[in-house]
Amino acid sequence: MLPEAIQVLQRGWLSSNNILLLGRHDTAIIDTGYVSHAQQTLELVRHVLHGRHLDQIINTHLHSDHCGGNAMLQAHFGCQTSIPVAEADKVRHWDVEALSFKATGQRCDRFTFDATIAPGDTLTLGDMAWQALAAPGHDPHALIFYCPQEKVLVSADALWENGFGVIFPELDGQSGFAEERATLDLIAGLDVAVVIPGHGAPFTDMAGALARARSRLDYLEADPVRNAQNALKVLLKFLLLERQRIALADVPALLTSMPVFAAANSNFLKQSPDQLGRWAVGQLVRSAAARVEGEYLLNQ
Ligand SMILES: [Zn+2]
Repeated sequence: MLPEAIQVLQRGWLSSNNILLLGRHDTAIIDTGYVSHAQQTLELVRHVLHGRHLDQIINTHLHSDHCGGNAMLQAHFGCQTSIPVAEADKVRHWDVEALSFKATGQRCDRFTFDATIAPGDTLTLGDMAWQALAAPGHDPHALIFYCPQEKVLVSADALWENGFGVIFPELDGQSGFAEERATLDLIAGLDVAVVIPGHGAPFTDMAGALARARSRLDYLEADPVRNAQNALKVLLKFLLLERQRIALADVPALLTSMPVFAAANSNFLKQSPDQLGRWAVGQLVRSAAARVEGEYLLNQ
């Protein structure tokens, strides 16, 4: 269902999908996975490239599960890297306060960039023309990429088969729901045969995905505490994915160490870290995303 020049490495939830674009004369990758999977990413990419050189890295947005492999791929291939234009100064100075990594308790090896991408730009990747479109909501500076010729949309975390990424701006009192709605409207206006999301398998029923995303957005917007609770669950699950086991006694301190959690708590959740830790652990166990063994929370 996808042209041969587009190869999707479907990863899990710790690492975003990696999309390889194989042109006759050059190659590119969109998003590079999480830092703790960087070695695996390099091996997967080399396998798909069959001895070819990687020329370009493109990032949809700078969450560490989408750019955590940048540094290793740069070191190995010496490739060019293009990032969303609004992130340029933060990356140039590696401003960990302004970049999202510290706020969300995630790690990312320092990388550099050679070019920026602005909404409205056209990129040639895999011998195809791709339009860069602004996709705020999950992340204010996120981009998605649309290829009209092949009717393929790289939707990152703006649209998944079931939902979309956490609406982070709302957690610290900024607008994100309205932006996500506008992004879904923009996507609905595109003629798309296949969507390649940031996480999960490529899919063809975009209308169904848009309907599910809109209904989820309505649900979150009706009571923003739900978005904060969802963020809390996702942040804890992400930590668990990375570490595989966490002492239950450490959960409240781990949550408190993430500025985004502190913001969500003071704006919406308004409970003690102990209470919220117990609640989040209970939610992950109930949804079979984790289990408790003795004094530990284990990934599953
Ligand atoms: Zn993201």
